[in-house]
Amino acid sequence: MENKITPEIVAEWTTRYPLMEQIIRMQEVFWVNTEVCNCSNRTISDQLGIADIETAEARLTRFAPYIMQAFPETRQNHGIIESSLLRIDKMQAKLEKIAGHSIPGKIYMKCDNHLPISGSIKARGGIYEVLKLAESIAMKNGMLSERDNYAILASERFKELFSQYSIVVGSTGNLGLSIGIMSAALGFKATVHMSADAKQWKKDLLRAKGVIVVEHTSDYGEAVKAGRREAQLAAKSHFVDDEKSLDLFLGYAVAAKRLKQQLDELSIVVDEEHPMFVYLPCGVGGGPGGVTFGLRTLFQDNVHCFFAEPTHSPAMLLGLMTQLHDEIAVQDVGIDNITDADGLAVGRPSRLVGKLLEKDISGVFTVQDEKLYKLLRLLADAEDLYLEPSALAGFTGPAQLHSDPLGKKYLEINNLTDKMQNATHIVWATGGNMVPKEVMQKFYAQGE
Ligand SMILES: *Cc1c(COP(=O)(O)O)cnc(C)c1O
Repeated sequence: MENKITPEIVAEWTTRYPLMEQIIRMQEVFWVNTEVCNCSNRTISDQLGIADIETAEARLTRFAPYIMQAFPETRQNHGIIESSLLRIDKMQAKLEKIAGHSIPGKIYMKCDNHLPISGSIKARGGIYEVLKLAESIAMKNGMLSERDNYAILASERFKELFSQYSIVVGSTGNLGLSIGIMSAALGFKATVHMSADAKQWKKDLLRAKGVIVVEHTSDYGEAVKAGRREAQLAAKSHFVDDEKSLDLFLGYAVAAKRLKQQLDELSIVVDEEHPMFVYLPCGVGGGPGGVTFGLRTLFQDNVHCFFAEPTHSPAMLLGLMTQLHDEIAVQDVGIDNITDADGLAVGRPSRLVGKLLEKDISGVFTVQDEKLYKLLRLLADAEDLYLEPSALAGFTGPAQLHSDPLGKKYLEINNLTDKMQNATHIVWATGGNMVPKEVMQKFYAQGE
């Protein structure tokens, strides 16, 4: 893309946006979205709503017998790919100690690091898109109807059918894992275009499953472009478009319905007097965006969603703040998009997500890589839970919301200050289970 953003424009921005200078210097910031609309009974979108989330949920339920068959580790949960919601009081105490102040409310962790099959939040959207495609192909060929037991999809004749089709995706790693593993299980030909930051073990694992891995020396945006090009050239080829896919988005959104059920089971109330705050690591935006869409649809203005990004990849932050969405990349303001948080190493945000949720994302904060490792070690010591660096980005949110001047202002403006004792904080732990032991040991050591 031609770079239309000149140094003069950047200079003008630093005057217009008080945080721009800090962002460019790659310092940590806590930005609050003044466009956020906490106004009751507003519909987020004319095009998408609860019915779409329910359709996606029903599809995943139809597939449960197949998932159970193909991935025995999902038997325990009857083929439903879901993670637990865990109270992490020991970690909360540690976070309070570091912050030097208490954090009103209770902190929980959403354990997507434990999601079966691909060990990250991508097991929601990525797998959903592959299943939806498989269903549509099987139905078009007259081999499947909604009333069938989907376990039949594990049989040879379906593998033969799907082997005529290819699935292509561009990824920093985890989306590739999720798409690659599910595609290979169904029998599709799968190609994953990996950006330079993708970890070696992720490429090795996919190759072992028969997935074609194309390695790029450039960043995520280029890997996506290469994948899109490949899929356009081939017949019977489906491109999973991380920047634009509604299927991915709705697969992620189902998490909100499942979370609501978990909250009910734990008797956690979310209403006007009991606000909920959710902290979501953000790359291109599809994962946190889908979850936010689902949560705002279900809980409206009683839920407040904050996104977390590395200081070196504040793509969604720049997109929302300038309202330019995908017309701005972090490189345009001289930021390198080089971070150890490989799942978040995205320079240009999704327009679909930014535009759709510009009144629903409460804010975005950034975190330094070093701090991710420290948090990794802290959580491991406190709760015996091991996450990948990207997945820790949300953990600084609760304390900052309480102490950062802009965080405090957000609470004041929305009449939340006095309700914080009743607050539920959910940090979304987006990945970690697939990380090989020796790699995790290195991460842990780096948090010293
Ligand atoms: C992909 C990913 C995210 C963010 O999801 P996006 O859809 O890219 O915004 C967060 N954490 C981990 C571990 C991821 O792999």
